[in-house]
Amino acid sequence: MTTVANALQAIRQRLAEAAAAAGRPAEGIQLLAVSKTVPATAIRQAYAAGQRAFGESYAQEAMEKIPALNDLPLEWHFIGPIQSNKTRPLAEHFSWVHSLERAKIAERLSAARPAGLPDLQVCIQVNISGEASKSGVAPEELLPLARQVQALPRLKLRGLMAIPEPTPDPAHQRQQLRVLGELLDQLNAAGFSLDTLSMGMSDDLEAAIAEGATIVRVGSAIFGKRPKI
Ligand SMILES: *Cc1c(COP(=O)(O)O)cnc(C)c1O
Repeated sequence: MTTVANALQAIRQRLAEAAAAAGRPAEGIQLLAVSKTVPATAIRQAYAAGQRAFGESYAQEAMEKIPALNDLPLEWHFIGPIQSNKTRPLAEHFSWVHSLERAKIAERLSAARPAGLPDLQVCIQVNISGEASKSGVAPEELLPLARQVQALPRLKLRGLMAIPEPTPDPAHQRQQLRVLGELLDQLNAAGFSLDTLSMGMSDDLEAAIAEGATIVRVGSAIFGKRPKI
């Protein structure tokens, strides 16, 4: 077995154990393999080991890899900061965008989504840690943005995404992640029907699953440590 295949098997095991501990069916949690900075050959190894959904954070890099892998039926998710001059390639090549945080970007994605493709599945990224440097909308700004996104054609608002402040303390991890689930519940109480909580990475996937994650985004635990860029 390749290193990637071994690592994937170990992550699937962690995911299944965390789901069982939370009393949740493992099928309700999608594993997104975060392949930023990872070469196409390693993505092929992950595909050979059964992985189908991949996450990219840099539009430029993704636009080079996606065409090189278009012989495989992969599902691409964009999870990085979105520049307005990159909305067209994102709308044309991705199935999901997790990192929406501005109405203007949502409008551009909506306008650029090709009519022949299914709706672009989107999550709004929320800044749950309150760190000024972090991406995502403030919780107070979420409801008006969700209403704007929901009204746009060719986008399907599915839920929320967050990147918490890194901490090795599982209790602090859970405390931060819980906020995202509460915000999703508030939107649903306000009339939305959202089903997606995109949260949990290599170091906090157990905490995220305990708090209701439906998509976990795992990079380094599958592909190894990334070079600093
Ligand atoms: C890089 C990245 C991940 C994966 O992080 P790991 O710690 O390598 O698992 C998840 N989500 C986002 C938004 C990322 O940029």
